[in-house]
Amino acid sequence: MTRPDKPSEINLVFDEPVQRRKAPKHLADFSPEDRRAFAEAQGLPAFRANQISNHYFTHFASDAESWTDIPIGDRARIADLLTPTLINLVRSVTCDNGMTRKDLWRLHDGVLIETVLMRYSDRTTVCISSQAGCGMDCPFCATGQAGLTRNLTAGEITAQIVAAARACALGELPGGPTRLSNIVFMGMGEPMANYNSMIRALRNITEANPNGLGISARSVTVSTVGLVNGIEKLMDESLPVTLAVSLHTPDDQLRDSLVPINSRWKVKEVLAAADAYAAKTGRRYSIEYALIRDINDQSWRADLLGRLLKNRNAHVNLIPLNPTPGSKWTASRQEDEAEFVRILESYGVPTTVRDTRGREIDGACGQLAAAENNEAATN
Ligand code: SAH
Repeated sequence: MTRPDKPSEINLVFDEPVQRRKAPKHLADFSPEDRRAFAEAQGLPAFRANQISNHYFTHFASDAESWTDIPIGDRARIADLLTPTLINLVRSVTCDNGMTRKDLWRLHDGVLIETVLMRYSDRTTVCISSQAGCGMDCPFCATGQAGLTRNLTAGEITAQIVAAARACALGELPGGPTRLSNIVFMGMGEPMANYNSMIRALRNITEANPNGLGISARSVTVSTVGLVNGIEKLMDESLPVTLAVSLHTPDDQLRDSLVPINSRWKVKEVLAAADAYAAKTGRRYSIEYALIRDINDQSWRADLLGRLLKNRNAHVNLIPLNPTPGSKWTASRQEDEAEFVRILESYGVPTTVRDTRGREIDGACGQLAAAENNEAATN
């Protein structure tokens, strides 16, 4: 596996500001109760927290001039204090006739993150980032290549979702105004490694208006490399989101290198935690499996996976590998993919092959931010 040319330069570009400045505090960093105290700490009456939450979560309103329940002269100042801008659009790229849009955002300290908005006939999904970079070091993943820059705050995670909800409401994707229906934590980062911010963001998603977006937990998927302590904690939060586990191979020997955290929690332990999660929440879980040619796509591995999953409340989501720049690895041959599916189905394991939306816009996993950082490093 070849690494990108200039990992150290990539990190250096944003090193200093990252260490020095914290993201400004935002309503979305706090629980509804604590938002009142936050408003007071900013020198505002507590009830402003409810008013601004309503503008933010119910109307996705970023334009303070439209806040008619706030005195005209105070609007901009209150917006700055309670809902400072946390993510700034660098650029958007679209494909699939505009139905897929990838947005690159710059955070207050120069760090870059990505979101992908995908409109389907029956739903609109946003794929969001939970960290800038990622520390899990999976060798096939673009985000993993440059390491972890920093955790995102709950406000920064929530801001990505609110921006997507606003884009939907404004009809920015073809087909007219719509509602953001699904959220997947499958962008940059390992959500379970940023647990508290992930949980606050999940509550902001699921709380009813005006305290949150009022989107059902069932419409949210949290994808993890398999941090068992995180899975176990999440099942006690009364937040029945769908769990996706990035397994990528059924055997520990290969998984130790494909998903290095496997040296800490083995396949058996990860599946046991996912089973417990499914039992507690009543939610079937997903097994994510990036099919990599001649690495993890052999029929004996499909057979092993089928035997492992046949009596579990799980379905398999096969992802044709999206090769990262410089990688020797590539997607499986069509016939190997088809055989893999056939074998899993012969065990009665529900299996889907993920569509490859956004491929031509570096849609997968940190590739747009990596390209931008490379440009910045070489300029
Ligand atoms: N850290 C979390 C969520 C982010 S990645 C996790 O690992 O689950 C979302 C999914 O995309 C994961 O299953 C990840 O393994 C997969 N992925 C990463 N790089 C990929 C690539 N180059 N091609 C296909 N899938 C990839």
